[in-house]
Amino acid sequence: MSNVIISVKDLHKKYGSFHAVKGINFEVFEGEIFGLLGPNGAGKSTTLEIIETLRDKTSGTIHVAGFNLDKEPNEIKKIIGVQLQTSGYYPNLNLTELIRLFAGLYNQPTDPIELLEMVNLTDKAKAKYKELSGGQKQRFSIATTLINQPKIIFLDEPTTGLDPQARRNLWDLIKAIRLQGTTVIITTHYMDEAEALCDRVAIIDSGKVIAMASPDKLIDDLVASGFERPKQVKNANLEDVFIQLTGHELRAEN
Ligand code: ADP
Repeated sequence: MSNVIISVKDLHKKYGSFHAVKGINFEVFEGEIFGLLGPNGAGKSTTLEIIETLRDKTSGTIHVAGFNLDKEPNEIKKIIGVQLQTSGYYPNLNLTELIRLFAGLYNQPTDPIELLEMVNLTDKAKAKYKELSGGQKQRFSIATTLINQPKIIFLDEPTTGLDPQARRNLWDLIKAIRLQGTTVIITTHYMDEAEALCDRVAIIDSGKVIAMASPDKLIDDLVASGFERPKQVKNANLEDVFIQLTGHELRAEN
């Protein structure tokens, strides 16, 4: 896992006089799940959208799979998968039709049922996007990122607003996608999600990377600095209760 697939050097983004991204540097290795963590407004989405070629940068150098973003953005577009805004889903088409539509746009032969199987939505093949639950919508949206068989997929807060089971189902899906060799970049402000999923994370605050390592290493460093958590009184929390009572299995509604 040592081939660099994304390199971001001294990235800056100004919105007018507001300096949103202030010299960000990081590398993502082929086959890893890399997390961009940080509070709201830290600059995560801006950074992600610049790498996705969807937003202009102010300065900096970005390479994706060896392609320079300034010189070959179209080559980059061909090998990445990006979640569409939900407004991109034509309301009167069902999931199979939507996949066929996107596959046509990408000029990519795609078996809709195979793709829906991957995200556990075959029973919704004839349903419209608006008829799906929150978790199903997210799984479908992840399916659409896979249509062009990308090397890298970008997921911007994919589990925000989902219940604990639906979140875990999505984590399993993201891990399965990585197992097939796809590199995943994800933004999240859920630390449990980053800990469960990410090989490495960059913590961004006010437009700067303030830490970057594996979750384990960051935690070990904090403990080594003398930090101690207030003693845990119980060996479980309310989320454990919820998951135990309602089960882990994939349900129709998530
Ligand atoms: P995050 O994804 O970490 O929540 P964003 O990248 O969305 O952060 O935003 C970083 C900062 O840039 C925020 O202060 C936000 O208000 C500002 N910002 C984002 N997009 C624009 C824009 N189009 N115009 C002006 N300011 C923006």
